[in-house]
Amino acid sequence: MPQLKSIGYVGLGIMGRPMSLNLLKAGYDVTVWNRTAARCHALGSEGAAIADSPADLARRKPEVICINVTDTPDVEQVLFGEQGIAPAASPGLIVVDHSTINPVATQDFARRLADRDVTLVDAPVSGGDVGAQKGTLSIMVGGPADAVERVRPMLEVVGSNVLHVGDAGMGQACKACNQVAVTCTLMGLCEALALAKQTGLDAHKMLDAISGGAAGSWQMSNLGPRIADGDFNPGFMIDLVLKDLNIVNETAAAKRLALAGTSEAERYFRIAAAHGHGKLGTQAMAKALEQVGGFEF
Ligand code: NAP
Repeated sequence: MPQLKSIGYVGLGIMGRPMSLNLLKAGYDVTVWNRTAARCHALGSEGAAIADSPADLARRKPEVICINVTDTPDVEQVLFGEQGIAPAASPGLIVVDHSTINPVATQDFARRLADRDVTLVDAPVSGGDVGAQKGTLSIMVGGPADAVERVRPMLEVVGSNVLHVGDAGMGQACKACNQVAVTCTLMGLCEALALAKQTGLDAHKMLDAISGGAAGSWQMSNLGPRIADGDFNPGFMIDLVLKDLNIVNETAAAKRLALAGTSEAERYFRIAAAHGHGKLGTQAMAKALEQVGGFEF
């Protein structure tokens, strides 16, 4: 089968804008739609066509439509809402969902799309805005192998690590695992920094001393120095990680699984958000330890 050429793109936020731009630069025919229409102009001036609605996008018969919106109800609306993709889709369409959403809902969406001969590939990403700009995202992919192989060249434009992890919903399940590991690691980092602070140990020296050993992690190397310097600007916002932890909680609860460390990390994030830090980066979890410990980093 020839390589696919035409892509529709829904959602031009922090992630969707640079990812769709990279597809355009790689030579794909890209048509975009964004709820706030003004966000389409930048892509339009780079050569993308602009649709009036998700349904209009689907009626233009692209081979693939990528979705990159916020949460589970948003994906449902874009797919099955009044002006949604599904009612207007042609048989054979592949929908690639890059949003981070609930794995069980994803399986339901896949079944409902399959009734219309449309295939859903769930492809949530990790690597943040910088990875989206550089095309170096990690992409956790769920869905039927033939559809995944068909979209792989396109995924390899936006990501450098594309891994097919299972059937529909398993990409989202993998992303939930990623968020569990990331938030628990970040909590360990923040607690180590709190202990250093309270014992009078220089934070940078402590990080230098331990990051090359068994305690080392991406969180420690990238976010540790920022916390020590009081830099809480987002890469990935606390409000969004709370959305992801909601997905983790729903998924774990459905399997009667208690995730004690994740719950504690979530508690810190909620304290930070309650103090007005929801739009700061996840490293602002450290601000919750300030509140709890009565000190300042
Ligand atoms: P964002 O900048 O807030 O953009 C969200 C996009 O979704 C916007 O284009 C928004 O449209 C659209 N949208 C939201 N609800 C919608 C609805 N009901 N109908 C139609 N469009 C809707 O978010 P982002 O950072 O790009 O994140 C997108 C997804 O990637 C999320 O699931 C997030 O968890 C995930 N993710 C983000 C990062 C990161 O570092 N930012 C990393 C990994 C994964 P408007 O322009 O009209 O608001």
